[in-house]
Amino acid sequence: MSVSRRLSHAQSVTWLSKTVLLSLLYYAAQILPLHAEETWVDLTHSFSESTIFWPTETGFRLVRGANKTTAKGYYYAANRFSTAEHGGTHLDAPRHFSASGQTADAIPLRNLIGEAAVVDVSAACATNPDYQVTIDDLMNWETANRQQLVGRIVLLRTGWSQRWPNRLTYLGTDQWGPSAVKHLHFPGLSPTAAQWLVDHRRPRAIGIDTASIDHGQSTDFAAHVNLCGANVPIFENVANLDAVPSTGVFVIALPMKIAGGSGGPLRIVGRISTDHRPNGE
Ligand SMILES: [Zn+2]
Repeated sequence: MSVSRRLSHAQSVTWLSKTVLLSLLYYAAQILPLHAEETWVDLTHSFSESTIFWPTETGFRLVRGANKTTAKGYYYAANRFSTAEHGGTHLDAPRHFSASGQTADAIPLRNLIGEAAVVDVSAACATNPDYQVTIDDLMNWETANRQQLVGRIVLLRTGWSQRWPNRLTYLGTDQWGPSAVKHLHFPGLSPTAAQWLVDHRRPRAIGIDTASIDHGQSTDFAAHVNLCGANVPIFENVANLDAVPSTGVFVIALPMKIAGGSGGPLRIVGRISTDHRPNGE
Protein backbone atom coordinates (compact mmCIF):
# COMPACT_ATOMS: atom_id res chain seq x y z
CA MET A 1 0.00 0.00 0.00
CA SER A 2 2.63 2.46 1.00
CA VAL A 3 4.77 1.41 -2.03
CA SER A 4 1.94 1.95 -4.50
CA ARG A 5 1.12 5.27 -2.83
CA ARG A 6 4.73 6.33 -3.15
CA LEU A 7 4.71 5.29 -6.84
CA SER A 8 1.52 7.14 -7.44
CA HIS A 9 2.97 10.21 -5.74
CA ALA A 10 6.11 9.93 -7.87
CA GLN A 11 4.01 9.53 -11.02
CA SER A 12 1.94 12.59 -10.24
CA VAL A 13 5.08 14.63 -9.59
CA THR A 14 6.41 13.49 -13.00
CA TRP A 15 3.10 14.35 -14.65
CA LEU A 16 3.08 17.78 -13.04
CA SER A 17 6.66 18.47 -14.14
CA LYS A 18 5.85 17.45 -17.70
CA THR A 19 2.75 19.63 -17.75
CA VAL A 20 4.64 22.66 -16.42
CA LEU A 21 7.50 22.05 -18.87
CA LEU A 22 5.16 21.69 -21.85
CA SER A 23 3.26 24.81 -20.82
CA LEU A 24 6.49 26.78 -20.60
CA LEU A 25 7.59 25.52 -24.01
CA TYR A 26 4.20 26.40 -25.47
CA TYR A 27 4.26 29.97 -24.16
CA ALA A 28 7.92 30.39 -25.15
CA ALA A 29 7.01 29.33 -28.69
CA GLN A 30 4.23 31.94 -28.70
CA ILE A 31 6.37 34.77 -27.41
CA LEU A 32 9.94 34.22 -28.60
CA PRO A 33 9.42 34.36 -32.39
CA LEU A 34 7.82 37.79 -32.07
CA HIS A 35 11.08 39.11 -30.71
CA ALA A 36 13.50 36.83 -32.52
CA GLU A 37 12.11 37.27 -36.05
CA GLU A 38 11.31 40.99 -36.22
CA THR A 39 13.97 43.23 -37.69
CA TRP A 40 13.09 46.87 -38.26
CA VAL A 41 15.21 49.28 -40.26
CA ASP A 42 14.77 53.04 -39.94
CA LEU A 43 14.78 54.46 -43.47
CA THR A 44 14.68 58.05 -42.18
CA HIS A 45 17.42 60.65 -41.74
CA SER A 46 17.13 62.57 -38.46
CA PHE A 47 16.10 66.22 -38.74
CA SER A 48 18.77 68.61 -37.50
CA GLU A 49 20.72 71.67 -38.59
CA SER A 50 22.78 69.44 -40.92
CA THR A 51 19.71 68.08 -42.74
CA ILE A 52 20.08 68.55 -46.49
CA PHE A 53 17.58 70.84 -48.23
CA TRP A 54 17.24 72.06 -51.81
CA PRO A 55 19.57 75.04 -52.44
CA THR A 56 16.62 77.42 -52.73
CA GLU A 57 15.01 76.33 -49.42
CA THR A 58 15.53 77.31 -45.82
CA GLY A 59 16.74 74.41 -43.68
CA PHE A 60 15.32 72.79 -40.58
CA ARG A 61 15.40 74.90 -37.43
CA LEU A 62 14.88 73.69 -33.88
CA VAL A 63 14.33 76.49 -31.39
CA ARG A 64 15.12 75.21 -27.93
CA GLY A 65 12.52 76.05 -25.32
CA ALA A 66 12.09 74.94 -21.74
CA ASN A 67 14.60 72.36 -20.54
CA LYS A 68 14.78 72.20 -16.76
CA THR A 69 13.38 70.84 -13.56
CA THR A 70 10.46 73.04 -12.53
CA ALA A 71 9.86 74.54 -9.09
CA LYS A 72 7.30 71.76 -8.56
CA GLY A 73 10.00 69.13 -8.96
CA TYR A 74 9.22 67.61 -12.37
CA TYR A 75 11.38 67.93 -15.46
CA TYR A 76 9.90 69.69 -18.50
CA ALA A 77 11.22 70.16 -22.06
CA ALA A 78 9.45 71.65 -25.11
CA ASN A 79 10.94 73.08 -28.32
CA ARG A 80 9.67 74.67 -31.51
CA PHE A 81 10.71 73.77 -35.03
CA SER A 82 10.28 75.20 -38.50
CA THR A 83 10.97 73.52 -41.82
CA ALA A 84 10.20 73.60 -45.51
CA GLU A 85 7.87 70.79 -46.59
CA HIS A 86 10.53 69.47 -48.97
CA GLY A 87 13.81 68.69 -47.24
CA GLY A 88 15.37 65.82 -45.35
CA THR A 89 13.46 62.55 -45.61
CA HIS A 90 10.13 63.77 -46.91
CA LEU A 91 6.97 63.16 -48.88
CA ASP A 92 6.15 64.74 -52.22
CA ALA A 93 2.36 64.69 -52.25
CA PRO A 94 0.95 64.46 -55.78
CA ARG A 95 -0.11 68.12 -55.39
CA HIS A 96 3.61 69.04 -55.55
CA PHE A 97 3.54 68.80 -59.36
CA SER A 98 -0.17 68.44 -60.17
CA ALA A 99 -2.84 71.10 -59.62
CA SER A 100 -5.46 68.37 -59.13
CA GLY A 101 -3.21 65.92 -57.29
CA GLN A 102 -3.84 64.71 -53.75
CA THR A 103 -2.55 66.89 -50.94
CA ALA A 104 -0.57 65.35 -48.07
CA ASP A 105 -3.64 64.79 -45.89
CA ALA A 106 -5.66 63.23 -48.73
CA ILE A 107 -3.27 60.41 -49.69
CA PRO A 108 -4.92 57.04 -48.96
CA LEU A 109 -3.12 55.03 -46.26
CA ARG A 110 -2.85 52.09 -48.66
CA ASN A 111 -0.39 54.16 -50.70
CA LEU A 112 1.86 54.69 -47.67
CA ILE A 113 1.97 51.14 -46.26
CA GLY A 114 2.83 47.92 -48.08
CA GLU A 115 5.41 45.49 -49.45
CA ALA A 116 8.48 47.15 -50.92
CA ALA A 117 10.52 46.38 -54.01
CA VAL A 118 14.07 47.60 -53.52
CA VAL A 119 15.65 48.17 -56.93
CA ASP A 120 19.46 48.29 -56.71
CA VAL A 121 21.06 50.63 -59.25
CA SER A 122 24.03 51.55 -57.08
CA ALA A 123 26.63 50.03 -59.43
CA ALA A 124 25.49 52.17 -62.38
CA CYS A 125 25.23 55.28 -60.20
CA ALA A 126 28.75 54.80 -58.77
CA THR A 127 30.23 55.54 -62.18
CA ASN A 128 27.63 58.09 -63.30
CA PRO A 129 26.19 60.61 -60.80
CA ASP A 130 23.67 61.74 -63.45
CA TYR A 131 22.29 58.21 -63.89
CA GLN A 132 18.58 57.86 -64.62
CA VAL A 133 16.89 54.59 -63.66
CA THR A 134 15.53 52.87 -66.77
CA ILE A 135 12.59 50.60 -67.56
CA ASP A 136 15.17 47.81 -67.96
CA ASP A 137 16.41 48.36 -64.38
CA LEU A 138 12.83 47.95 -63.13
CA MET A 139 12.17 44.91 -65.30
CA ASN A 140 15.45 43.34 -64.16
CA TRP A 141 14.13 43.44 -60.59
CA GLU A 142 10.97 41.69 -61.76
CA THR A 143 12.94 39.01 -63.60
CA ALA A 144 15.33 38.40 -60.70
CA ASN A 145 12.52 38.18 -58.15
CA ARG A 146 9.89 36.53 -60.38
CA GLN A 147 7.33 39.14 -59.34
CA GLN A 148 5.86 42.32 -60.76
CA LEU A 149 6.10 45.78 -59.23
CA VAL A 150 2.30 46.06 -59.20
CA GLY A 151 1.05 47.32 -55.85
CA ARG A 152 4.55 47.68 -54.41
CA ILE A 153 6.28 50.59 -52.74
CA VAL A 154 9.18 50.85 -55.18
CA LEU A 155 12.39 52.04 -53.51
CA LEU A 156 15.38 53.00 -55.68
CA ARG A 157 18.75 52.24 -54.07
CA THR A 158 21.39 54.47 -55.69
CA GLY A 159 23.83 54.27 -52.77
CA TRP A 160 23.64 58.05 -52.29
CA SER A 161 22.57 57.93 -48.63
CA GLN A 162 26.15 56.96 -47.71
CA ARG A 163 27.13 60.51 -48.72
CA TRP A 164 24.66 62.07 -46.26
CA PRO A 165 25.01 64.70 -44.73
CA ASN A 166 27.83 66.01 -46.97
CA ARG A 167 26.00 68.52 -49.21
CA LEU A 168 28.85 68.70 -51.72
CA THR A 169 29.00 64.97 -52.47
CA TYR A 170 25.26 64.35 -51.96
CA LEU A 171 23.93 67.23 -54.09
CA GLY A 172 26.96 67.88 -56.28
CA THR A 173 27.23 71.41 -54.87
CA ASP A 174 27.34 72.97 -51.43
CA GLN A 175 26.25 76.37 -52.75
CA TRP A 176 22.90 77.95 -51.82
CA GLY A 177 20.43 79.98 -53.87
CA PRO A 178 18.93 79.74 -57.39
CA SER A 179 22.34 79.88 -59.07
CA ALA A 180 23.35 76.61 -57.35
CA VAL A 181 20.58 74.56 -58.98
CA LYS A 182 22.42 74.11 -62.28
CA HIS A 183 25.30 72.49 -60.39
CA LEU A 184 23.17 69.69 -58.90
CA HIS A 185 24.38 66.18 -59.74
CA PHE A 186 22.73 63.03 -58.38
CA PRO A 187 20.82 60.07 -59.85
CA GLY A 188 17.07 59.92 -60.39
CA LEU A 189 14.29 58.03 -62.16
CA SER A 190 13.97 58.62 -65.90
CA PRO A 191 10.67 60.25 -66.92
CA THR A 192 10.09 57.37 -69.36
CA ALA A 193 10.43 54.80 -66.58
CA ALA A 194 8.16 56.89 -64.35
CA GLN A 195 5.47 56.89 -67.04
CA TRP A 196 5.94 53.14 -67.60
CA LEU A 197 5.35 52.53 -63.89
CA VAL A 198 2.19 54.64 -63.99
CA ASP A 199 0.83 53.00 -67.14
CA HIS A 200 1.79 49.37 -66.52
CA ARG A 201 2.57 48.71 -62.84
CA ARG A 202 0.62 51.12 -60.63
CA PRO A 203 2.97 51.09 -57.60
CA ARG A 204 1.59 52.29 -54.26
CA ALA A 205 4.38 54.86 -54.02
CA ILE A 206 7.97 55.36 -55.10
CA GLY A 207 11.01 56.39 -53.07
CA ILE A 208 14.66 57.21 -53.69
CA ASP A 209 17.78 57.80 -51.57
CA THR A 210 18.63 61.07 -53.35
CA ALA A 211 17.28 64.63 -53.02
CA SER A 212 14.79 64.28 -55.87
CA ILE A 213 13.04 61.61 -57.95
CA ASP A 214 14.26 63.56 -61.02
CA HIS A 215 18.03 63.47 -61.43
CA GLY A 216 19.99 66.56 -60.40
CA GLN A 217 20.44 67.90 -63.91
CA SER A 218 16.72 67.80 -64.73
CA THR A 219 15.17 71.11 -65.72
CA ASP A 220 11.61 69.98 -66.47
CA PHE A 221 11.05 67.59 -63.51
CA ALA A 222 9.17 65.27 -65.83
CA ALA A 223 9.40 62.21 -63.56
CA HIS A 224 7.70 64.28 -60.83
CA VAL A 225 5.06 65.46 -63.32
CA ASN A 226 4.35 61.94 -64.57
CA LEU A 227 4.07 60.40 -61.10
CA CYS A 228 2.18 63.26 -59.43
CA GLY A 229 -0.23 63.44 -62.37
CA ALA A 230 -1.22 59.84 -61.58
CA ASN A 231 -1.44 60.38 -57.79
CA VAL A 232 1.66 58.30 -57.03
CA PRO A 233 3.26 59.67 -53.82
CA ILE A 234 7.06 60.15 -53.84
CA PHE A 235 9.50 59.70 -50.93
CA GLU A 236 12.84 61.52 -51.20
CA ASN A 237 16.11 61.42 -49.22
CA VAL A 238 15.24 57.92 -48.01
CA ALA A 239 17.98 56.51 -45.73
CA ASN A 240 19.58 53.10 -45.19
CA LEU A 241 18.36 51.36 -48.34
CA ASP A 242 21.68 49.47 -48.34
CA ALA A 243 20.49 47.76 -45.16
CA VAL A 244 17.40 46.16 -46.68
CA PRO A 245 17.05 43.29 -49.18
CA SER A 246 15.36 43.54 -52.57
CA THR A 247 12.22 41.77 -51.35
CA GLY A 248 10.65 40.83 -48.01
CA VAL A 249 10.52 44.40 -46.70
CA PHE A 250 7.21 45.71 -45.37
CA VAL A 251 7.23 49.50 -45.39
CA ILE A 252 5.34 51.99 -43.24
CA ALA A 253 5.81 55.57 -44.47
CA LEU A 254 3.75 58.06 -42.50
CA PRO A 255 4.28 61.75 -43.32
CA MET A 256 3.17 64.67 -41.20
CA LYS A 257 -0.53 65.15 -42.03
CA ILE A 258 -0.50 68.74 -43.26
CA ALA A 259 -3.96 69.84 -44.42
CA GLY A 260 -3.58 71.06 -47.99
CA GLY A 261 0.17 70.34 -47.91
CA SER A 262 2.26 69.63 -51.02
CA GLY A 263 4.48 67.32 -48.95
CA GLY A 264 6.05 67.17 -45.53
CA PRO A 265 8.51 65.49 -43.16
CA LEU A 266 8.29 61.71 -43.41
CA ARG A 267 9.05 58.88 -40.99
CA ILE A 268 9.62 55.77 -43.06
CA VAL A 269 10.57 52.37 -41.64
CA GLY A 270 10.83 48.84 -43.01
CA ARG A 271 10.26 45.45 -41.36
CA ILE A 272 12.39 42.67 -42.80
CA SER A 273 10.99 39.13 -42.93
CA THR A 274 13.10 36.46 -41.21
CA ASP A 275 13.98 34.69 -44.44
CA HIS A 276 14.96 37.93 -46.18
CA ARG A 277 17.72 39.27 -43.91
CA PRO A 278 20.29 41.09 -46.08
CA ASN A 279 23.10 38.63 -45.25
CA GLY A 280 20.83 35.66 -45.89
CA GLU A 281 19.44 36.97 -49.16
ZN1 LIG B 1 10.15 66.92 -52.52
